[in-house]
Amino acid sequence: MSFESLGLSEALLRATREQGYEEPSPIQAQAIPAVLSGGDVMAAAQTGTGKTAGFTLPLLQRLAELPRRGKGVRALVLAPTRELAAQVGESVGRYGRYQSVKSAVIFGGVKINPQIRQLRDGVDVLVATPGRLMDLYQQGAVRFDALDILVLDEADRMLDMGFIRDIRKILALLPKQRQNLLFSATFSADIRKLAEGLLNQPVQIEV
Ligand code: AMP
Repeated sequence: MSFESLGLSEALLRATREQGYEEPSPIQAQAIPAVLSGGDVMAAAQTGTGKTAGFTLPLLQRLAELPRRGKGVRALVLAPTRELAAQVGESVGRYGRYQSVKSAVIFGGVKINPQIRQLRDGVDVLVATPGRLMDLYQQGAVRFDALDILVLDEADRMLDMGFIRDIRKILALLPKQRQNLLFSATFSADIRKLAEGLLNQPVQIEV
């Protein structure tokens, strides 16, 4: 199995080669084609499995292929902590360096005004923790009309941290027609309930 055989663009393959990755990890081998096909995905994957590239690479390719729907964020990645959000944001930057894509990372506990300014400049891929994202939305700093792809990363941790209400509020703001990707280390009853309401005939991946 090679990255070349998964259907990724030359820009993404080049970025992947620069990382020194020789072949896709098991989750990548399954998630990349599933995300590229445009459907919803539900994946059970622990940290360290390569799950970040598993959704970031095909997400970037989808954005390059799809026409922009309007103004605003095109892909939203929700993450439980600032550390994870920062890591995902860094991956988006690294894998997306040979295509034209703007990304931003927002989380709580820091000043909001620089984040408002960053969003005003235009962001294609927004990586955010749920609470700060809701604050920014309430201040009119972010719009979701152009959203094509939603990712919930480490969904189980987001529920453990009490983000379910913010997540539900955010989901209600998004265009109905979109691709949803849910990554979680475990699939508790609560995650299954969230997945049932969120995902449409998802491809299920376990590694
Ligand atoms: P993650 O599970 O997304 O946090 O990734 C864990 C680590 O694996 C990160 O340091 C990645 O850079 C690395 N990684 C991701 N995909 C691959 C791959 N296909 N081959 C080797 N290392 C990888």
